[in-house]
Amino acid sequence: MASMYDTLSDELITSICRAVDEGFTEQLDTLKGLVNIPSQRGEEAEAQNYMAARYAERGYSVDQWKINIDDIKDLPGFSPVHVSYDDAFNVVATHKSRTQAGKSLILNGHIDVVPVESPEKWQYGPYSGDIVGDWMYGRGAGDMKSGLLACLAAMDALKKCGFAPAADVFLQSVVEEECTGNGALACLARGYRADAAFIPEPLQPKLMRAQVGPVWFKVTVGGDPQHASADFSGAGANAIEKAIYLIESLKELEKEWNERKKNYQEYSCHSHPIRFNLGTIQGGKWASSVPAECVFEMRVAVYPGQDLAEAREELTNFILDKARQDPFLKNNLPEVVFHGFMAEGYVLKDSDDLEEVLKQAHYEVFKEELQEHVTTAASDARFFGLYAGTPTIVYGPECTMPHGYDEAVSLTSLKQVTKTIALFIAGWCGVEEIA
Ligand code: ZN
Repeated sequence: MASMYDTLSDELITSICRAVDEGFTEQLDTLKGLVNIPSQRGEEAEAQNYMAARYAERGYSVDQWKINIDDIKDLPGFSPVHVSYDDAFNVVATHKSRTQAGKSLILNGHIDVVPVESPEKWQYGPYSGDIVGDWMYGRGAGDMKSGLLACLAAMDALKKCGFAPAADVFLQSVVEEECTGNGALACLARGYRADAAFIPEPLQPKLMRAQVGPVWFKVTVGGDPQHASADFSGAGANAIEKAIYLIESLKELEKEWNERKKNYQEYSCHSHPIRFNLGTIQGGKWASSVPAECVFEMRVAVYPGQDLAEAREELTNFILDKARQDPFLKNNLPEVVFHGFMAEGYVLKDSDDLEEVLKQAHYEVFKEELQEHVTTAASDARFFGLYAGTPTIVYGPECTMPHGYDEAVSLTSLKQVTKTIALFIAGWCGVEEIA
């Protein structure tokens, strides 16, 4: 298949790759600066100011706005939230093409990172950005501040060669990817559209063919508080033990959902596509009291194409049915609330032209054919793909321990991926000389 990539001269391809090499030290300095700024949910504004400054100093027009739930709450893909968005700002930088000769592109990445648990167990500071050997360490170094800034470095590389994309390019730094996706949704609500999108999530330099849709829910289980020495025959009920009973029971449902993989082509050969994760649990106030309440939160996932309302109903009914089989819970039914992720799965399709450009760019850098994979995680790709008809590539650097101790990104991989992104931009958008 012919693509705009074929119009790029060998000389330009070589120059772009060289420009990435030459800019890599600066790219890492900028990345370290961003990793140094904690950006867990609710504290993203400082990191977003940093991104806005990096965009502005390059001459892009910068749009920075606070997410307003009223703007997005009725849109498909919205996830319910019970937290404040007072600090939730998106930043989008726009490159306006002079010639508009090629196809437009959204380069999207998320600024939010997941919490750091037990920082003393990290070998390197969780926000240090320390470089040891081939790795830069820090929460977000992999997932996904490296990818976010790789987009910027890729644009820089084109500029260094005297070129700009021959179509509009939107560099998006969004919040809320790790919990709802409402940041990406807010970009759609604000009107940002393009012919394709690219998200350099650290899922390896492979084409992501499909992703699942995470769903979060919270279960509140009551108990009947007594002195710990009370005789349990007919009196008292331990809320934590009741919660454990429900949690154990949910493993049956997890098994059942995984058995359904045969109905979903992309996942039919996957060993365990659907992970039920017990993420938080809280209960009890006193070692000598039978606890009165236990609250736990879980993350489950749906297959691409699976109906969210049906999944919600099935989960709720399953929990309530199990509760009805318990002598205490049947008269004290738990409360099930869905909050946070309420995400559909996504499959990349009808995108041969886009994939062709990625294949060519990847081959140029890696000298190997592009591989593809499906993931048991999710990304913001679903918003562009499902709700805006914009095929979206997810392809990024190699990362170790995302969400774990000593998260790190491979610098070799990051440099290669930056080159692929730069060549992809040139091959998808085409190039125009900077006036
Ligand atoms: Zn991520």
